[in-house]
Amino acid sequence: MKLEIDALRLMSELETLAGFSEAPAPAVTRVVYSETDRQARAYVTGLCHEAGLAVRTDAVGNLFARWRGSDATAAAVGTGSHIDAIPNAGRYDGVVGVLGGLEAIRAMQRAGLCPRRSVELLIFAAEEPTRFGIGCFGSRLLAGVLDGSAGERLHDPAGRTLDDWRAEAGFQGAVDSVRLPAGYYSAFVELHIEQGPLLERAGILLGIVTAIAAPASSIITIQGEGGHAGAALMPGRRDALCAAAEIVLAVEAAAKTTGAVDTVGTVGICEVFPCAINSIPSRVKLSMDVRDIDEGRRDGVLDRIERAAAEMAARRNVTIQAEMLNADAPAACDPAVVAALERAAAAHGLPCRRMVSRAYHDSLFMARVAPTSMLFIPCRGGVSHRPDEYAAPEAIAGGTLVLAEALTQLAR
Ligand SMILES: [Zn+2]
Repeated sequence: MKLEIDALRLMSELETLAGFSEAPAPAVTRVVYSETDRQARAYVTGLCHEAGLAVRTDAVGNLFARWRGSDATAAAVGTGSHIDAIPNAGRYDGVVGVLGGLEAIRAMQRAGLCPRRSVELLIFAAEEPTRFGIGCFGSRLLAGVLDGSAGERLHDPAGRTLDDWRAEAGFQGAVDSVRLPAGYYSAFVELHIEQGPLLERAGILLGIVTAIAAPASSIITIQGEGGHAGAALMPGRRDALCAAAEIVLAVEAAAKTTGAVDTVGTVGICEVFPCAINSIPSRVKLSMDVRDIDEGRRDGVLDRIERAAAEMAARRNVTIQAEMLNADAPAACDPAVVAALERAAAAHGLPCRRMVSRAYHDSLFMARVAPTSMLFIPCRGGVSHRPDEYAAPEAIAGGTLVLAEALTQLAR
């Protein structure tokens, strides 16, 4: 029998899941371990049970729903994404990969397939950094990028730890036990909206991801000397905002020097102290986010910025302190999984192109422990993390169909 997607059912499930939200529709707010997150998990768990999948959760709430293959000893093929949503977000980010992944499995079941490998839907505990300030803590733990100390170390702004929260949500066991054993998945594919405009602009239904960029982000504090804007004369001033302005431009210049389209550098936050019209800024806090798909090239940009900042600090007699928030390694996707996705798209006559993921996803960490790729579908205007986020039903159904086809091939 042919693989066929029940698009009506999938769209109605997307609609239902969007209803579990702290924000009024069309906005979706669903923070990990909140009441709405728990309700949404219960809903998806029910759907997985209906499909005859064996469901388990780990110590932090990563949820696994397995359709058993004929060879219980073979490594499983994984697919999935996240259902948490930042405040005032939309209904497609992450969710398409979860409900689409489930529908892909159901389509395989309806087609009468009996795959050799188990096919497993994985719902990551949380992709968004909303509660603990760090994105992807579920997949970081699965990949061993975070260790068991995260349970006590990660905390929300009020000081409640990951351990406190997961206990309240009913997830027990050692945080260390979350790490996946080597070879757990033979392949992993995440279906996701692009969150950028390229597919829509090109009029192409599917993007097959060959690399996932990763940010190095830090907070830079510049300390100068304040004073009266009228009384302190220009010679000898140690204006922290003038110094910060040089850093902002140094980030831009350094990101442009590589000549690669995949290098980007951004300063998104600038806090000025004391922030008064008649006062020389004494202290400035900047954020810096530098991304690339090539770690060496990205780190080269960071070095260039650091040298420029040190030269500037000496010249302007200010001090600079940088606190690195994260510097994850970018990931290359697995050529065999990329090829499987391309074959799957071709098998159904759906246009696709290779692309880079500039946003980061749980797949960035899954790529460390499993051959991984991502399948992107267009979203209107490239808009995401907003209530007006939108992906067309045909795109969702098309992506789900190609996912089902690829999982079929990979599970043989
Ligand atoms: Zn996402």
